Parts: sequence; C-alpha cells; structure tokens
Amino acid sequence: MKAPHNLRKACASALSDEVMCAAVGKMANILSFVRGAAAASYPGFEKLRDWGRDRKMEVSANLEFYARRFAGRLEAAGGVAHFARNGPEALKIVTSIAADLGAVSAVKSKSMTTEEISLNEALLDAGVAVTETDLGEFIIQLAGEKPSHIVAPAIHKNRAQVAQLFHEALGSEPGLGVEELVRVARRALRKRFLAADIGITGANFAVAQTGTIAMVTNEGNGRLTSALPPVQIVIVGIDKMIPELSDLPGFLTLLTRSATGQAISSYVTIITGPRRQGEEEGPRQLHVVLLDNGRTSLASGPFRQMLHCLHCGACMNNCPVYRTVGGHAYQSVYPGPMGDVLSPLLWGMEAYGDLPDACTLCGRCEEVCPMRIPLPDYHRKLREIREEAKGAPPGLKALAPALLAGHPLFYRAGLGIVRRILSRGSRLPSAILPAVAGEWTICRELPEPGQGRDFRSWWADRQKGPDRNGEKS
Ligand code: SF4
Repeated sequence: MKAPHNLRKACASALSDEVMCAAVGKMANILSFVRGAAAASYPGFEKLRDWGRDRKMEVSANLEFYARRFAGRLEAAGGVAHFARNGPEALKIVTSIAADLGAVSAVKSKSMTTEEISLNEALLDAGVAVTETDLGEFIIQLAGEKPSHIVAPAIHKNRAQVAQLFHEALGSEPGLGVEELVRVARRALRKRFLAADIGITGANFAVAQTGTIAMVTNEGNGRLTSALPPVQIVIVGIDKMIPELSDLPGFLTLLTRSATGQAISSYVTIITGPRRQGEEEGPRQLHVVLLDNGRTSLASGPFRQMLHCLHCGACMNNCPVYRTVGGHAYQSVYPGPMGDVLSPLLWGMEAYGDLPDACTLCGRCEEVCPMRIPLPDYHRKLREIREEAKGAPPGLKALAPALLAGHPLFYRAGLGIVRRILSRGSRLPSAILPAVAGEWTICRELPEPGQGRDFRSWWADRQKGPDRNGEKS
C-alpha cells in the first residue's frame, strides 16, 4: 500500500517553489486557451462529445468482451496478447519477455500506464536500461523526477532549468535556447533508438474490431520506438478499447483538440500486428499487455465513467487548483481533477483519501472534459464515502437525531446558539479568526447571520396564506 498522501503539506511545499508555479501557470493557461479555440473552431464539437461518451459507455458496459475481442484479432494478425490482472502480473510478463530475449536496453515512448505500474524501476532491477524518448519524459528522467502532467510531463520546468540539466547530464553548452536543446536531446536519443533491444509504448486507443493499436505523438518518438527495435511491447489499460476502426477519427479529434488544441497531432501511429513478410520496418515480435489493475471493478461501480478518460489533460489545464500547485503536489501518477478521483479508486482511500479535497467544485473540469465525465460529482461522492467511513463521534451520532432534529424546541434552541456564536465570530479581527473558526477563514470572511430573512420566518409567513406571504412584499 502507498504511504498516506498529505495534501496540505504537499501544497505548502509546492507553493514555495515560485519557478514551478510560474511555469505551470503559464503553460496551463496556454493549453487551456488553445483547447477553447480548437473546440470552438470545430462545428459539432459538442455533438462529438456526446457521441464519444456514448461509445465509451458501450465499451465500459462490456469491457471484458471488447478486451477479449481485441486479443483475438491481435493474435490473428500475428501479435501476442497477455492479460495482466494487476501491476505485478504486468511487470512479470514484461520482465520475462526481456529475459527470454536477453535484452539489456529498451527505449520507451510516453505512457502513463507504465508509470502506473512502475515499469521503469522493475526493468532496471531486471538489468534492462530504459530510456524515455518523449522530450518531456527524457527531461524528467535525467532530473530523477516523476511526470507532473499526463500530457506535458515536464510542464513544471522552464527553459533555463532544462538548459542547466542538459549541461550537467549531457555535457552540452550552458544556457542553450529551445531549438538547440531539442537538437541535443535528439542526438542523445538517436543512438539509443538504434541500440535498443525492445521498444515499449503505451496506446491511446486499442481497436477491438481489428486488434489495432493507435498512438498519438508530436515528436515522432512513438513511431521510432515501435519501428526500430526488433521487439515491441505495448502496455495498455483495458479501458483504452474502442469498438471499431471507424470510431478512431472521432476519438482522435476529441483527444488532440482537447489536449493540445491541435486538429490532429503531428504523428498518428497505427499498428496492426508485427512486421509482415516483405515489409521493411516494424517489430518482428509484437506483445500487447492488457492491464486490468482495478478497471473491471470500476466498470461495475458508481465511478464507471472514469474508464472513459482519454488522458487529454484538459481538466488539469483548466483546474484552478492544479494551475496553482502543479502536478507533484498530488503525489500520484495521475494529478489534477481526474487524478483526485482515479488515485483513491486505484490505490485506496487510505493512501489518497484527501485528494478529492483538492477541488473547489467550480465545475470547470466537467465543462472541458471531452468525455463529459462528471468529475465534480465524483469528487463529492468520494468525500461522502470517506466521511461515512469515518463516521460521526458515537455520542453525537446518538444525540443529534434524537435531540436536535427530533424535537422542534431543541432544534430552535440549537439554531439560536449557533446564530449567536456566528455573529460574535464574524466580528472577530481577521488576524485571529482562523484560530477560532478554522483555516477556511484564512482567505474568507465569516458571514454574519441575520443579514436578510431566514428560511424559518419565510416559511411561517408562507404557511399563513398567499396575501401575507413574504414573496409578495
Ligand atoms: S477526465 Fe476528461 S478532461 Fe480529464 S484527462 Fe480525462 S478525458 Fe481529459
């Protein structure tokens, strides 16, 4: 089990990093803006969102059927399908393939599913050196960090920091500009592509009808990872299934416009089976690990629509909390609004039970989510589950319904006491208010009761009849 997350501490430490806060705020702002422009410029985008949600509803209602269908079609095309119930099983499958091949090096394109199961660490333990080939992932691998965004993993770093990192790790000149930095990374990565025994990728979509894998990248590293090494291993969550190949254009449109505001990403790599006779490129072996890791049980529960997530990152780009504290404060592979929900569902409330509190319930995440996942409802539901599990103190639990809610006299007396406390509290100087009324009041005023009419007197008047009810006056 993961160590319990401490949201308050993590946020405090994130807020003290001004460079990170500025970098995340700036990039999230840009990504949010381009997503808005891309959605507005596509007639029918809202209808497409409805279509996408309905197609994914069909998949999440029949997850096992589509995963098995995919596996059958993949094998018919010459690939090998492996089912993994959880992370350890997936790691065992991948490390066994590597051991059978005598592999010592692997290149990898960006995949949050491999982060979810800590694949790099397992391969390293098995004697396989792994190189991340997505530029953002390459940067954070050199820095010894974890991704802070599911689409832009190094969003928290600025150019000067990357230049310094490359100078120290790769021996490049200090203070390089963006284009030169890209050139340095390309030179370093090319050698590793050519030497790699295995290419490891994720998948944005897995087409059940044809056993096809589809990946979107902007750097072409996904294509090189899948085309150059002799063996490709794909790790894909079974939630990534789509029913038919004809669904792919619609989902690609939803994904790329929501993620980076692009009509289409620079590269869309579509793979059906390994290299065939007469073909000049592509892996000679193609293994696809179909990972469950809690997805089947999500499909039958109240959070089913989390399985529809396209990992576009739009919810985090638009979230006021994520934009302020950045991704590392969530201390999870999945940050932002989708991570607040997914992390406790995947790794338990004990470890991540405080993450649903990293939400102001402003509703912006649901507005921009291409799959219309009801994220604010899910945050609320998780809070309820957590509080119900805690339970009220036994004394209060027994007394509250019986005394306060059960007897109008006690209820009215209780309200009067609360009113008096609130009215005194609201007059306290703001410097000492938080000590008395809690941290909620650090940046808010305590409203003074009695301003305007209270519900009970309004209701009493209303009961007296239409002429004398408060609505008319
Ligand atoms: S929850 Fe929605 S907006 Fe957030 S990453 Fe998933 S698909 Fe994108």
